[in-house]
Amino acid sequence: MEKLILKEYPNARPGEEVTDTYLNFLADNHHCDLKKVLFATSLCCDDINVSTDFRRVLARPFNLGGLGGLPYAGFTGLVAYGHHIPDGGDAFIFYGPHIGITEEGELGKMRRPGQKGLTNSCGALMLALDRLTRTDEVYIPVGDEYDHQQTVLERTLMPFKQQILSAENPVKEITEVAYLVIERQIRYLLERTITEFNCERVFLLGGVIVNSSPEYPDYVEIRNFEKIEVESMRTVTSQTAILSNQAFKNL
Ligand SMILES: [Zn+2]
Repeated sequence: MEKLILKEYPNARPGEEVTDTYLNFLADNHHCDLKKVLFATSLCCDDINVSTDFRRVLARPFNLGGLGGLPYAGFTGLVAYGHHIPDGGDAFIFYGPHIGITEEGELGKMRRPGQKGLTNSCGALMLALDRLTRTDEVYIPVGDEYDHQQTVLERTLMPFKQQILSAENPVKEITEVAYLVIERQIRYLLERTITEFNCERVFLLGGVIVNSSPEYPDYVEIRNFEKIEVESMRTVTSQTAILSNQAFKNL
């Protein structure tokens, strides 16, 4: 299984190793008190992702993400998260899309715990890809209050349709695009909410989670690890009027 995963994602490492590596980085290299680190995720809500996040070692994750991993919690969610960081602590946000792999090496599918058959992973991204691939009609994701996240996900990916469909492996490509979109959205949200953060440092960790069969560990290919000094971001950030509202201050 590892061979198949590394063929597609050469820098992927087992989830547990990634967890240990980056928690050690935070504690040893950056002198974080892990008890005062407030952990947030922007990951797909798929139950399979619990196996590779940092919940085992860092309590109280703030869930920013939803279908596909986009940070749907938005300004309101980021402000609330920023306010909840323990005094003297740090922010740590782990984000990215996920993609399944079968024992035959096929991407976009996986065998889940307790099942014999295969299902899509990420189901939301594969559904979006299926709709983007339609040739019988031009698919336009319209707002549906009862399928809000999927609609937003498809609308966000729509500008990348040609890039995705003309790639050698559109399943892999839509996941790459999702990674970039998630990262871009998190930066955008952070820049506009940073004055509300009750800390001096925000650590970002981004990657692609590769879901394997239940007998094997999941892997993560880390793409970004960075430390943002809150003060330096504050000085370059122009604040949006919405955040001066007292209701936001009290989140
Ligand atoms: Zn998913």
